[in-house]
Amino acid sequence: MSIADNLQKITCQLSNSVTLVAVSKTKPISSIFEVYNAGQRVFGENKIKEMVEKYETLPKDIQWHMIGHLQRNKVKYMAHFVELIHGVDSFKTLKEINKQAKKHNRIINCLLQIKIAQEDTKFGLKTSEIKEILSLDDFKELQNINIVGLMGMASFTIDKVQIRGEFKQLKSIFEELKTQNLQLKTLSMGMSGDYNIAIEEGSTMIRVGSAIFGVRQ
Ligand SMILES: *Cc1c(COP(=O)(O)O)cnc(C)c1O
Repeated sequence: MSIADNLQKITCQLSNSVTLVAVSKTKPISSIFEVYNAGQRVFGENKIKEMVEKYETLPKDIQWHMIGHLQRNKVKYMAHFVELIHGVDSFKTLKEINKQAKKHNRIINCLLQIKIAQEDTKFGLKTSEIKEILSLDDFKELQNINIVGLMGMASFTIDKVQIRGEFKQLKSIFEELKTQNLQLKTLSMGMSGDYNIAIEEGSTMIRVGSAIFGVRQ
């Protein structure tokens, strides 16, 4: 199947309430164009430098999402165009995003990353840390960022019961925080191997790479 066929196969399963982020990290411009020409406009990258290069080359109606772990000193390179930043996991990073967004007179939408996986390698905040950030007076002064939701990654395992349990946990934290912060609307969870489970558990945004573009080297 072609890349465009893969995209079609996934998008036709999605309801209007789920947004597909096509994760194009490591993939060449030609492959991204194939997906773009098939109608996809939302793309995700995990390295700022790579995303900036692709932004400069590709059509300007693409919405670029940063899904990787952020290096604070590089936020400035994407602040003029990034549509959504998924992996925010500290107040310091929020402050830097706010500072750079202000320079461009923009408001940048962000998702807070929650740690749901068992592994130590996955980044993210605990629920208590998120509540703490949302209640800080300094947070309320950040006029150029909007926290629009949460993002999480399930453990890398074939145990579907465990994956479902982790997504359920993320969804329930999302619902709980929504009662404190009414702007929360996006729940970014689900990748190539687990997006069906994620959608069943309430995902509103899936980040799919290899199921569209093929395996990465
Ligand atoms: C690479 C990546 C994805 C996509 O992974 P696939 O398994 O190829 O779909 C999703 N989310 C994040 C944070 C990633 O780094």
